[in-house]
Amino acid sequence: MKPIKTKLLSETDVLPLTCSRTGTCCHGNQVWINPWEVQQLAKTKQISVSEFCKTNTDFGGIRLKFEGNPNSTGKKSCLLYHSTNGCSVHVGRPLACRMYPLGRQIQHGETRYVYQGDEFPCFNECPEVKTLPQLSVYEYLIGQNTKHYEIAQVGYLEVVQNLADNAFALLLDTPLASSGDIRTLKAWRKLSIENPSSLFLNLEEDWLKALINPTVDYNEDPTIFIEQHNEYLQQKIQACFGSLTTIKEFSDAAILLMNMALYLAISIGANSKELAEHWIEVAKEHGALE
Ligand code: SF4
Ligand code: SF4
Repeated sequence: MKPIKTKLLSETDVLPLTCSRTGTCCHGNQVWINPWEVQQLAKTKQISVSEFCKTNTDFGGIRLKFEGNPNSTGKKSCLLYHSTNGCSVHVGRPLACRMYPLGRQIQHGETRYVYQGDEFPCFNECPEVKTLPQLSVYEYLIGQNTKHYEIAQVGYLEVVQNLADNAFALLLDTPLASSGDIRTLKAWRKLSIENPSSLFLNLEEDWLKALINPTVDYNEDPTIFIEQHNEYLQQKIQACFGSLTTIKEFSDAAILLMNMALYLAISIGANSKELAEHWIEVAKEHGALE
């Protein structure tokens, strides 16, 4: 298969970024959402987080469902799309929707804005954008009010790393790795190639709730919400795994926490396979066996 081209952008690049508002990209698309975005969306819909997740998302709350009425090309709409009024959650829409057709990557701590494909994505199905005013990437992001949503992505990347760090502690700071255990890294390797559905189905209800709908007060400031979410997860991990004693218990807990880290990583659009492979190599460098 031909690799998809990624066009790297600078904030001063000027592009046809004025949307034609045809709702084309609200059909047949894939939108991943992090737990703070889930809170925003539920709040905008004025329903509970659990009801929002049940009705509008796949895999327990990390992807919007695209199962609505198809458009003229047969692509099904996001369930939050209304054919007459457009997006029903416009004020609380997630980062992926605010940024489309642009994407965002973090490499070595630096944020890069990109679009994918041989040509500008909107040209395929909304060629009329060629006649609309052009905008710089910077102007576009300001207009889409992405700041809080970008902060939330960075915040959840740290939560992902913290979950993985807990998994590392169970593997390397207990007698697990030095016991000659190969079961844990074998399971991490298996998790690295599991799809979002499997990572979701592996999680028990209680842990899924802790990830997607934690007992944390809603805060429209993502920094505050995510700090509290992280604290909540750390306390739960300590309460559940702080007094384990057997090799099997350490291994089970390290596998569960890696599953949680990878599941949450997918919610922010990260490449879970690459992350898992990196973490397996780090664990091996520190003495764990596969
Ligand atoms: S494809 Fe581009 S122009 Fe068309 S609706 Fe989406 S963002 Fe707007
Ligand atoms: S959340 Fe709104 S903007 Fe995003 S895909 Fe759904 S309907 Fe479209």
